[in-house]
Amino acid sequence: MKTNHYNLQTDRRKFLKGFTFTLGGTLLGMPLLSHSMDQHIGNLAYEAGTSQTGSQQKKKMGIALVGLGQYSTNELAPALQETQHCYLAGVVTGTPSKAEAWKKKYNIPDKNIYSYDTFDQIANNKDIDIVYVVLPNAMHAEYTIRAARAKKHVICEKPMATTLEDAQRMLDACRENGVQLAIGYRLHFEPFHQRVMELGQKQVYGKVKQIEARNSSDMTDGSLDVWRLNKQLAGGGSLMDLGIYCVQGAIYTMGKPPVAVTARYGEVTKPNYFHSVEQSINWQMEFADGVKAECNTSYADEENLLSAKAEKGWWRLSPAYAYEGKKGETHEGKIDLPNIYEQVRQMDGQAHSFMKNQPSIVPGEMGLRDMRVLMAIYESANAGGKRVEIRYGG
Ligand code: NAD
Repeated sequence: MKTNHYNLQTDRRKFLKGFTFTLGGTLLGMPLLSHSMDQHIGNLAYEAGTSQTGSQQKKKMGIALVGLGQYSTNELAPALQETQHCYLAGVVTGTPSKAEAWKKKYNIPDKNIYSYDTFDQIANNKDIDIVYVVLPNAMHAEYTIRAARAKKHVICEKPMATTLEDAQRMLDACRENGVQLAIGYRLHFEPFHQRVMELGQKQVYGKVKQIEARNSSDMTDGSLDVWRLNKQLAGGGSLMDLGIYCVQGAIYTMGKPPVAVTARYGEVTKPNYFHSVEQSINWQMEFADGVKAECNTSYADEENLLSAKAEKGWWRLSPAYAYEGKKGETHEGKIDLPNIYEQVRQMDGQAHSFMKNQPSIVPGEMGLRDMRVLMAIYESANAGGKRVEIRYGG
């Protein structure tokens, strides 16, 4: 499969230690530029924390990856070899041969290897503090809820769920069991996107006037038998998988979520691939002050852009969402920032906030907020482009 998003990463840049910058984040209507990387990563210096899920002082939190597909295999497990606040403590897999291979490769003890059937016994395992759900989208809810009942903090991959009801059940389960839930929104921990948050939210070049976001990845030279093409497992097509980055990008550029959306499905040019989920979708997000974000996503194209025009200037990231090779410029010239191993940053940041019992900068509530936007986009597209107002918090 030729994609910008799922590339195998073999030649990783090393995690840049000691590089500090402002962290931005947005949740519902609140611009959050108050966090600093120092706060979240402890300036990358080791700081002993007490895990909320265990009483002993832990140097590093143990993570169990659930689902050993391409993202776990090629990105998360290698990243966990470089993290400072967490490590790969266990795995949950339905495939015994994978369990065997991972056990050897990462030196994982037998007692920390689970199948989907034995997963709930993880409640008795003190090595595991965090369960990271890296399964097909429709399975996120079940495994997040089971992890919460086992009193483990949860990191859940994007999109958080496939329905609003599931997303709410996940939040409720984590709240009821006193554990934290964070979404795998890696770009909040990444320098180019943090610069975009700063440029937009701090109005460095004046107020944002217009946003454009495009994220497309061609899936049409690969297998037809993949869960991403199956609505029951994926919840939707390119929007759920790739368009969500455009939704996020526009929201953290503005520091607030959109009030309404208008959307239309694109033409289906590859019907053998796209009879269950959408091939492409174009949508517009409308913010309270009238600013519009024009967005597009497709599973049959290659695009990778997040850009904005402001009163006194402009900026653009392209490629914006790929794991590596991000490039950025403003009307003043090149944005000169390092490409980092962002999954290392993400998991360290999330583990550190769990350790400190502070909410993550990418909490479950942010996942639910984004689900509301995604569902409104589908509602609009299904109604032939009708303007749909988004209700938050109800
Ligand atoms: P994948 O198909 O490579 O892996 C899915 C895993 O789930 C496999 O190990 C598979 O065996 C397992 N599985 C269990 N039950 C299954 C079932 N009924 N059908 C299919 N697979 C089943 O997928 P992936 O690319 O690793 O994606 C997993 C999750 O991670 C998705 O939610 C995806 O959106 C997310 N993801 C996030 C990023 C990111 O940058 N944050 C990147 C890639 C994937």
